Amino acid sequence: MKSACLLAAGLALAPFATSVSAQIMDFAKIDMIAEPMGPNLTMLSGSSGIDPSHDDAAGGRIGVLAGPDGILMVDSQYAQLADKVLAAIRRISAEPIRFLVNTHIHRDHTAGNAFFARMGAVILAREELRDGMMRTAKSPNAAANPLSDPAGWPVITYGMGAPVTIHLDGETVELIPVRAAHTGGDTMIRFVNADVIMIGDFYRNYGYPFIDLGNGGSLKGMLEALDQTARLAGPDTRLVPGHGTVIKRGDLVPYRDMIATVAERVKTAIAEGKSLQDVIASKPTADYDAKLAGGTSLSANRFVTELYEDVMYADLK
Ligand SMILES: [Zn+2]
Repeated sequence: MKSACLLAAGLALAPFATSVSAQIMDFAKIDMIAEPMGPNLTMLSGSSGIDPSHDDAAGGRIGVLAGPDGILMVDSQYAQLADKVLAAIRRISAEPIRFLVNTHIHRDHTAGNAFFARMGAVILAREELRDGMMRTAKSPNAAANPLSDPAGWPVITYGMGAPVTIHLDGETVELIPVRAAHTGGDTMIRFVNADVIMIGDFYRNYGYPFIDLGNGGSLKGMLEALDQTARLAGPDTRLVPGHGTVIKRGDLVPYRDMIATVAERVKTAIAEGKSLQDVIASKPTADYDAKLAGGTSLSANRFVTELYEDVMYADLK
């Protein structure tokens, strides 16, 4: 009975889950915009008004640490933007791109990996991320999936132990593993001297949170990741999400509260025997919808579906 419910819920989730991919996007219209974050740290984002999933900036944000020791990149955007990303990096520095770190597996953060690996960049990421890429490559639609190019798979992987530390360009870069949150292979990247942490997508301020259960994400991990970030960050540390505006530690609190509140509503509804369709129809996010930028019904329904599925999975453990 439970597995039938899970199957039904999984099928319901599928149309929402595909919204992370580049469906209707005119890549030719996207420019890369540079945002300086310190003497040798820059963020690159795609221009606004083009990406249907992230209206404020197309694709995922890229971090560029540049200096005499070479360049370290965080994430690699859609493959279709690789030339533009490289041109934007070259406006910052002509040094070799030595390291590329992925915050998580989604293609708006990793599909450019192969392009930069072929230029000599060594890719680092969580073991779970590499495993996910290898599985994706074997999936029936692999031919259409840029992740299926093994050149883009991480070369150096790590687990949930101590952070991997890279010393480059006078900066100390910590790759901090995050327990299954947005996906099962999330990493935060902390630039200690610049006092900046790139937190990937377990926080987003455009639309509702995305817990990608199909790629190993979890509600519990999402809440833990937010707590971990709050412990690491000082009051003025700039927290840079994979999409959306840069935030500070204090901004995490209402976001965490919102997730916990909606999750409790969904749990209560499940305990009352409500179906996924009933729970979606009851609009458990209603009091947040107007306040949240990009809080569309699609994004709310996907979030509620994930919470419903997560609770059902948790019930099986
Ligand atoms: Zn993502």
